[in-house]
Amino acid sequence: MATDNLTTSSVSSDDPSGEVLRQLDAWLDIAWDPQRPLGEWWSLLADEGWGFPSWPVEWFGRGLPSSTARRARIELVHRGALGPPAGIAPFLAAPTLLAHGTDEQLRRFMPGIAKGTDVWCQLFSEPGSGSDLASLATRAELDGDEYVVTGQKVWNTGAQFADWAILMARTDIDQPKHKGISYFAFDMRQPGVEVRPLKEMTGGATFNEVFLTEARVPVANLLGAPGEGWRVAMTTLSHERDNENPAGGGGGGTFIGRPDLSMPVADFMRPDPDHRPDGFEIAMSGGMGELPAKLAREFGRLDDAVTRQQVADLWAHRQLIRLNGQRGKARVKQGQPPGAESSTGKLMSSDLGRKMREVGLAIEGAHGQLMDTDAPHDGLLQAYGLFQPAMSIAGGTDEVQRSIIGERVLGLPKEPDVSRDVAWRDVKVGTQKRD
Ligand SMILES: Cc1cc2nc3c(=O)[nH]c(=O)nc-3n(C[C@H](O)[C@H](O)[C@H](O)COP(=O)(O)OP(=O)(O)OC[C@H]3O[C@@H](n4cnc5c(N)ncnc54)[C@H](O)[C@@H]3O)c2cc1C
Repeated sequence: MATDNLTTSSVSSDDPSGEVLRQLDAWLDIAWDPQRPLGEWWSLLADEGWGFPSWPVEWFGRGLPSSTARRARIELVHRGALGPPAGIAPFLAAPTLLAHGTDEQLRRFMPGIAKGTDVWCQLFSEPGSGSDLASLATRAELDGDEYVVTGQKVWNTGAQFADWAILMARTDIDQPKHKGISYFAFDMRQPGVEVRPLKEMTGGATFNEVFLTEARVPVANLLGAPGEGWRVAMTTLSHERDNENPAGGGGGGTFIGRPDLSMPVADFMRPDPDHRPDGFEIAMSGGMGELPAKLAREFGRLDDAVTRQQVADLWAHRQLIRLNGQRGKARVKQGQPPGAESSTGKLMSSDLGRKMREVGLAIEGAHGQLMDTDAPHDGLLQAYGLFQPAMSIAGGTDEVQRSIIGERVLGLPKEPDVSRDVAWRDVKVGTQKRD
């Protein structure tokens, strides 16, 4: 399929969004064709910067402000066109690479991320190191121009499909726990990497345990300097807690998995009648958004004052999350370090999830006990409800977010951490449990 004459001119970053949307519309008139192979469409979106318009022009973006980029994303949806690839690659790996990667690393990794050819996962958590991530025990020991990596990771979303991982591993055990960690772009397709899926109460298996046994990663794949991994990870975590992150939801395709890039886009977009989205997919796609209002209408509860108030409250809650996200971005744009907005946003989102589940199930009444195709909307609410507790855990638990808000917003004293200044080799918490 011809891809000539599809180049749109670049737009300056202070261009009002109306002009940007006109340019996108004109481009879509020519370029959007649902019969194109999926890989070709994602490639076009990337080359034109319409997939991730807030990324820099030289790295598959248009350098647009996030509010304009968001409108462009909505416009793609309105036009019925498929958005860019979703998943950990654009959601977490790309912003971390853009902030800390060398030109060589960006050249190597950004094309596969922007065009959806490479699937990434996140190898951070360990059996004893989740909230206290800095206590992690996976070791990376220097051997010539490579590190040798040994340890166990857990809860790694989509690791069973991944080509690459963002990996945190300890390179210096004599430093305090936050200081001896390094951050790598890690090849998942090598001997010494064993991925074991974990079955969840949702019925799905999105998480994995990942066992690393003398796996290798070149020094050239370090993001930031050795021992600076904690600082680099803060970039990743601020994006993970960012509910406005354009790659987080509403992108093209599933968040987890490996799509067939040769299939026509139309086939990719066509709902599979046999596929029941699990709660993770529903949460990531923002698919719950209007459901409580829809249910209230269908169950004849729109005249009920309490239900009306609850549905309006959910709507207001969503707007607050959006505005809070924009405030956080404005801060960063002004050159300030990421603030507590990501924590407040994350907390508001898990709260919203709980309320959605409870309001929705109250509206459904006895129907709320049904599952799958027996339940209203093929069990969308039930699948979401089973997944919802995970939203209070992923990317930092509610309790941890509250501590961050207490310290950064309310100026409360820092939570005591007896192991903070102790050399990691002497620490007796986390995965490294010794007598
Ligand atoms: C949907 C989902 C996707 C995930 N995807 C990934 C992934 O792709 N890659 C990855 O590396 N990890 C992933 N995780 C793991 C996630 O980052 C951890 O589950 C999370 O950091 C919490 O760690 P933990 O499970 O070890 O719980 P713990 O840290 O053991 O916490 C247990 C309980 O103790 C509380 N607690 C702990 N410390 C404190 C404290 N200081 N103050 C108050 N309360 C505290 C917690 O709030 C929690 O209630 C995912 C998790 C979920 C749910």
